[in-house]
Amino acid sequence: MAENEKKSAAELLKEELVYQTKNSGEVLSDKELEKADLFCEGYKSFLNMAKTEREAVDTTIAIAREKGYREFDPRVLYKAGDKIYYNNRGKALILTTMGTEPLENGVRIIASHIDAPRIDLKPRPLYEEAQLGLLKTHYYGGIKKYQWTAIPLALHGVIVRRDGEAVNVAIGEREEDPVFTITDLLPHLGKDQMQRKLDDGVRGEELNVLVGGRPFRDDKASERVKLNLLRLLNEKYGVVEADFLSAELTMVPAFKAQDLGFDRSFIGAYGHDDRVCAYTSIMAALNNPKPAATTVTVLADKEETGSEGPTGLSSDFLRFFIEDLAAPHGVAARTVFRNSKCMSADVNAAFDPTFPDVHEKNNAAYVNRGVVVTKYTGSRGKGGTNDASAEYVAFIRSLLDNAKVQWQAGELGKVDFGGGGTVAKYISSLGVETVDVGVAVLSMHAPYEVCSKADVYTAYRAFDAFYK
Ligand code: MN
Ligand code: MN
Repeated sequence: MAENEKKSAAELLKEELVYQTKNSGEVLSDKELEKADLFCEGYKSFLNMAKTEREAVDTTIAIAREKGYREFDPRVLYKAGDKIYYNNRGKALILTTMGTEPLENGVRIIASHIDAPRIDLKPRPLYEEAQLGLLKTHYYGGIKKYQWTAIPLALHGVIVRRDGEAVNVAIGEREEDPVFTITDLLPHLGKDQMQRKLDDGVRGEELNVLVGGRPFRDDKASERVKLNLLRLLNEKYGVVEADFLSAELTMVPAFKAQDLGFDRSFIGAYGHDDRVCAYTSIMAALNNPKPAATTVTVLADKEETGSEGPTGLSSDFLRFFIEDLAAPHGVAARTVFRNSKCMSADVNAAFDPTFPDVHEKNNAAYVNRGVVVTKYTGSRGKGGTNDASAEYVAFIRSLLDNAKVQWQAGELGKVDFGGGGTVAKYISSLGVETVDVGVAVLSMHAPYEVCSKADVYTAYRAFDAFYK
């Protein structure tokens, strides 16, 4: 509608009273969309460098150190503008910028996770069958197993030898590298398999990775393909078979992050969940070197398996970090937490028109409609959810509106369908006001997930406003 065209009474009243969401292509200016595209170039290279939580930690530390962040020392009394990072075992990370306000006024926490669903190797993975070298796996996180067959996979991780020496592994990322794959049955012989339920179409014990097939030249020993593979691994990494026992090796999709769509409005990549919130919150932290409230950017591990373990947020690593940070100031951690605010930064399931039945349209999250504020997750009676208070959602709402950040409310699927949780409940258990904020993702937990560039940039703007 042209500006000089007169709006009808109904149109005016609708504008005033009715809540509407719009496509970011209509809301953002050309200049803002350009900024979004540019911002996503950095995000794509982060995705390519950080395919595991360990790589995400290493990549983030390198970026942060360049901006003046230094390793946390609990004996130091940090002052406004000081920048520190706490590295939790190379698998989780906290970035903190000290604010001008005292710690007892509380901190601003943005907590995302840097682990993603993938195919972990078993402790004793390597075997030979029919002269094929194969690896046994135990998948990590919630996946649709059939999606992980017949795609190129890269091997990432670390092997810690008996002498304690850690060997980093990344094969399948460079142009000249080989890749690996989980084989699947051809349709011609898949008659029985195709009768299985989709959930059971490919079974956990059928996720076996093909890694070689050329035997060691010798007529005597058996399993010479396996032997030859062990020889190659020994030559390259100095490891023996028993070293697999003390390793964290994982198969991840070998794809690179890429523009998607004729209009390039999307990014297709492995691991948007939840590196999209990790990257955008890291960038927001770096963009606020002199915040009022101290910023605490948490990159957690193990979210996809229930946040357990010392690098997951159900452990006390965040609580102890704040305790150590506040102690030299003579402030108790509980005082800090009581006055703190948190954005639990995680993705939400985007409405997919091909599968509309699982969403309730009015409360679903949509790609290209801005960052998603999810008041509660959980399902069937809000089971296991943080459920942010009306007061806190109002605070977030006005924060985003004042900063002109496009946002939408979202729910994770229909009442009796939905599911899934985030780290929100672990942060709120510390007495911190918490709400879920993040990016809507299509094909979540698939080897190749999709999100919108405008949404990525909008998430960054939301986190930036929270830290301002
Ligand atoms: Mn997830
Ligand atoms: Mn997630």
